[in-house]
Amino acid sequence: MQKTRVIAIAAAALLALTACGDDGGNGNGESADPADFPEGSTMARIVEEGTITIGTKFDQPLFGLQGPDGVPVGFDVEIGQLIADELGVEAEFVEAQSAQRETLIQNGSVDLVVATYTINDERKELIDFAGPYYVAGQSLMVTADNTDINGPDDLAGKTVCSADGSTPAQNIRDNYPDAELVTYGAYTDCLDPLSSGQVDAVTTDNVILAGYVNEQPDDFKLVGEQFTEEPYGIGLAKDDDDFRTFVNDTLEAAYEDGRWAEAWENTAGAVLDTPEPPAVDRY
Ligand code: GLU
Repeated sequence: MQKTRVIAIAAAALLALTACGDDGGNGNGESADPADFPEGSTMARIVEEGTITIGTKFDQPLFGLQGPDGVPVGFDVEIGQLIADELGVEAEFVEAQSAQRETLIQNGSVDLVVATYTINDERKELIDFAGPYYVAGQSLMVTADNTDINGPDDLAGKTVCSADGSTPAQNIRDNYPDAELVTYGAYTDCLDPLSSGQVDAVTTDNVILAGYVNEQPDDFKLVGEQFTEEPYGIGLAKDDDDFRTFVNDTLEAAYEDGRWAEAWENTAGAVLDTPEPPAVDRY
């Protein structure tokens, strides 16, 4: 009996130690010091402040979904946490809806956006991107009993719902003008209209839709192939090259040592196969 108790206490102590290493370290189990980074750099400021503010989604299962305690969980949250850990600081997650992302970065409300955020040239005029750390593709979700929509070419004369300020909404406007597009602030705003028949389809990235289908498999289904490529980047202030390099270095280190794959397996991996990480683009 006595021996079992000692072992149990030793195991608990070890667990506590491991937990400390995960929370406060910079990947090597050491706390970062502002002096480890160039004076005046974003990294030095964040280490000084002790907190990094990260914009993410709060209503997208698998990538960023607010839990009962208010804290979001998902692959994007894990990617943000990796960067916080590398700096040895606390991560504070705030909601960043699709149309708000550039503004939140530009006005300094957040240090980073990790929010199913497609890298593209238009956005690069306003902000910069580290990554990509994942590549998704636009897809369609319909009600489980729908038989007439099997791909984007079937959308003519149909009503399709998406989020304001998103690349999938823009793609429908540009390339499927015969579809009637309805947009809301968040993709979850499209779910009731889809159930009630007010809209015929919801469109965004396959992995976001897969999260909704996973939560309501009797109600919704994904149809057709992915019809775009959506490389997910980590948004940060334009021309902050030191910070972008730091985030890219952190991503590559996490690819190498398995933390990226672990982040996937603990979140989106519950529903989706583990992909190969895409090559970081240091443009
Ligand atoms: N990846 C697309 C985008 O950045 C769609 C997903 C989203 O809106 O977050 O616009």
